[in-house]
Amino acid sequence: MDEKFHSLLERAEGHASAWIETIAERPVRATRSSDELRQLLGGPLAQQALDPEIVTATLANAALGGTVASTGPRFFGFVVGGRLPAALAADWLVSTWDQNACVYAQSPLVSVIEQITGSWLLEIAGLSPGMSFGFVTGCQMASFTGLAAARHRVLRRAGWDVEANGLCGAPPIEVVVSEEAHYTIFMALRLLGIGTAQVRRIPTDDQGRMRADELGKFLHARKNGPCIVCAQAGNVNTGAFDPLAAIAEQTRAAGAWLHVDGAFGLWAAAAPARAHLLAGSELADSWATDAHKWLNVPYDCGLAFVRDPHALQAAMAITAEYLPTQTEQRNPSDFTPELSRRARGVEVWAALRSLGRAGLADMIGRNCVQARRFAEKLRAGGCEILNDVVLNQVLVAFGDAEKTKRVIQAIQDDGTCWAGITVWQGRTAMRISVSSWATTEADVDQSVAAMLRAARA
Ligand SMILES: *Cc1c(COP(=O)(O)O)cnc(C)c1O
Repeated sequence: MDEKFHSLLERAEGHASAWIETIAERPVRATRSSDELRQLLGGPLAQQALDPEIVTATLANAALGGTVASTGPRFFGFVVGGRLPAALAADWLVSTWDQNACVYAQSPLVSVIEQITGSWLLEIAGLSPGMSFGFVTGCQMASFTGLAAARHRVLRRAGWDVEANGLCGAPPIEVVVSEEAHYTIFMALRLLGIGTAQVRRIPTDDQGRMRADELGKFLHARKNGPCIVCAQAGNVNTGAFDPLAAIAEQTRAAGAWLHVDGAFGLWAAAAPARAHLLAGSELADSWATDAHKWLNVPYDCGLAFVRDPHALQAAMAITAEYLPTQTEQRNPSDFTPELSRRARGVEVWAALRSLGRAGLADMIGRNCVQARRFAEKLRAGGCEILNDVVLNQVLVAFGDAEKTKRVIQAIQDDGTCWAGITVWQGRTAMRISVSSWATTEADVDQSVAAMLRAARA
């Protein structure tokens, strides 16, 4: 490596450290406007080259005010999570190696790490060790992947080869979701050519859980034929879990495929005090989850798990169905929609290895306790908590819709912390998602103080 390259990397490390060191003090929200950012970074692309050190310094400068401190300890919007130190360091190495996580021959390390990490995750999640898995960009693509396997299997049973013949002329697939299904399920169904208009929506209860009795009624009344049921572990508003055991039982009896969206909820399995929420989870046919949310690895990283390895490979492997599912070495692209891609399994390995089982249980459990702390302190401060706080989600109303909106805006402007807005069963509310390794009790208390200040103003 020549001296200039060496110095460039040292500078980049310095910029990164400076960004990290000030994160807890900077306002959580961005402080530069889009116009300011365009001024710093835009204009026509120049003809001449620019010294990489200046390029990097320009980016670092823009990032100080142009980024949101969502990896800091007091960002509670959207269930984003931060990034663990070991995961960030691994991310730097991954970019340095620039491996293509496509086939074994392009990176034995990546193939083996994905195999190890996937097995660890199956064990943590309490899923069958024989399940297949793929590392994708996020939970939406994980649902796409799981549902592609589902589409293969339910149509195959009906005598249709969807990979060869597509959906024109295929037996119709009935898809069943709850009224609280995440919109990414609908996106996945659109991409799979199934569409959304015919999807059957099962009513939910006051916490947003699918009503298993209503599902049972529906499945009992329907005629045989291809059917996929999508359940949810972790409602984005309340954190509630669909009753998976009852849903799985009914789905199996109906000969349907059960897919579960557990973007952040699957991680409850890692914390002994929350694992009961996932009872029955091992009966599902496919799972979608995120690592970039609650596992706190950098974007972008999600996982699909599929019980039927043949169905996943039939849907995803380029070399198609006639390949044995157990090739000697794992070709990562046999399990994902992408061919060439980033070696994102490496960060997951690093996160898990640095935490250990105990550290992971502690991180998940701690965030749940912090969510309760938010709820108790805000309730004591006169705010209304709209959900049963079973996981890491808290819904807060500060009065009517107008007042609640005003208070949320004031909290965001203040910059001590950040939480977003939602509407839950007709009530406008602030949504607090606690999902960062970096959040401490003191951060919760500091944030509660800022929230109550805004509520009283
Ligand atoms: C975040 C989320 C998704 C989508 O995940 P991405 O990683 O953004 O694709 C899906 N379902 C639930 C419940 C989520 O919280």
